[in-house]
Amino acid sequence: MYDVWAEDVIKIEGLEVFAHHGVFPEEKEKGQKFLVNAALHMDARRAGREDALALSTDYGDLCHFITRWMQENTCRLLEAVAERLSEAILLKYQLIAAVDLEIRKPEAPIDLPFGCVSVEVHRGWHRVYLAVGSNIGFREHYIEEGVNALRIHPLICVKKVSQMIRTKPYGGVEQEDFLNGALEIETLLTPEELLEALHRIEDAAGRTREVHWGPRTLDLDILFYDKLVYESDDLTIPHVDLENREFVLEPLREIAPGYRHPVLHRTVEQLAGALAAESEPVTGTQ
Ligand code: ADP
Ligand code: MG
Repeated sequence: MYDVWAEDVIKIEGLEVFAHHGVFPEEKEKGQKFLVNAALHMDARRAGREDALALSTDYGDLCHFITRWMQENTCRLLEAVAERLSEAILLKYQLIAAVDLEIRKPEAPIDLPFGCVSVEVHRGWHRVYLAVGSNIGFREHYIEEGVNALRIHPLICVKKVSQMIRTKPYGGVEQEDFLNGALEIETLLTPEELLEALHRIEDAAGRTREVHWGPRTLDLDILFYDKLVYESDDLTIPHVDLENREFVLEPLREIAPGYRHPVLHRTVEQLAGALAAESEPVTGTQ
């Protein structure tokens, strides 16, 4: 589904669809012509080498899918058409990593001479690494519940789950041992939307937020999001201080040893190795 090497593009230009999107009632009633341009980002190498349609995306089938979708749905805004249709395309056609989708409305009700109005969006899958942890009660159960909630989320696809490791708590608060792990997911959510989804899953597992670094039924953190470096009031990516946390690096090393930290420019394997070497007891001669 997601491929960082997806630099090939299949293009559909000027697909004409008669549909009923628009803000004005007469647009909904009468309908009008729309034109769709789509650029599908995917890896076409294997399909090309083997000359096999099964290894590619069938653009004929996709044209019919777009036409049906445009006719079976009614949106007020072109933005909504572009947003929802691009999501539907990415969910249905598994080989497409990203899509540029332009919806053109050449006969929009504007009483001035004009060429065309259009909205274009670029949407795609993002590869994300998450940390998962729990240290109250039946920890395995909370973690399993969290992973299952991610699995059934319509815009998240869980690709890898590490072994869970048992660790001593961090931050000096007196509490039970932690169970920690890491996950690789692919998602259509933005970082902020993903954080919100994670908070909802934590809440469903009975998480309360009284003590920072205190006991928690379920903790889900975003470690990396593609190669993004991002900072807002409630989100820092890559996750703060992950290079100093063995309970993050050890499980991550199992599923993503070669991922390179976009700020420190070192792989997870290198970071984990450096931290392990640092914390080894110094054996001196007497
Ligand atoms: P922690 O995970 O640091 O032990 P919490 O789970 O209570 O503590 O998170 C506190 C806040 O950290 C969250 O409400 C969130 O806004 C913020 N935060 C900042 N960066 C991240 C991130 N990469 N992943 C998850 N939460 C983050
Ligand atoms: Mg957290």
